[in-house]
Amino acid sequence: MADEQVVITLQDIAREVQDCTRCELCRSRTMAVPGEGDAHARIMLIGEGPGFNEDREGRPFIGASGKFLSELLLIAGVSREQVFIGNVVKCRPPGNRDPLPDEIAACAPYLDRQIAAIDPEVIVTLGRFSMARWFPGERITKIHGVPREVDGRLIVPMFHPAAALHQGAVRPLIEEDFRKLPKFLAEVEAKRNAAGKPDEPPPAQLGLF
Ligand code: URA
Ligand code: SF4
Repeated sequence: MADEQVVITLQDIAREVQDCTRCELCRSRTMAVPGEGDAHARIMLIGEGPGFNEDREGRPFIGASGKFLSELLLIAGVSREQVFIGNVVKCRPPGNRDPLPDEIAACAPYLDRQIAAIDPEVIVTLGRFSMARWFPGERITKIHGVPREVDGRLIVPMFHPAAALHQGAVRPLIEEDFRKLPKFLAEVEAKRNAAGKPDEPPPAQLGLF
């Protein structure tokens, strides 16, 4: 997909999400949260669903776990602006209850289209609902930080940042997993280049003279 087309596609998806009535969560939401970040991000992070603050602002991960997520990204050497952050469901489940299977299924096409448009090299799943999409039946305590190659990219299951905020013992584990991200990016980049599919066009000539 051409660069401008990716931006337009993501805007189209965001507009559809804002008006979406495909599941019951549309009734209780204040604002839908389509996700945000760089349209050409090499890393996409997928959480569970909007919480109280996200529902009010229409933006993902802006509460306490979001603040911690920004710190974790710095450990990986990237800023929030360089990644794309989304969720399995785009509207807040009332009282932060777990999203239901039919809600996740109704919302999945939006996430599918975002992944297809951005085509990230690495997808980080945050918490069990995004993990379940690629690692059904697995346990996060066993598989966190261990990537799986799917469709020419690496999917890396990680603890949800909120888990690290609530359980001190999880914090060093999630930090260690984020520290591995540059290595995973390099692996996918090498593979994509070897396959003759450079992930970025050659840099444009700089007007130095
Ligand atoms: N937790 C999530 O899973 N997603 C958000 O957007 C915020 C908190
Ligand atoms: Fe639509 Fe997803 Fe919101 Fe349900 S959660 S109303 S499917 S955008």
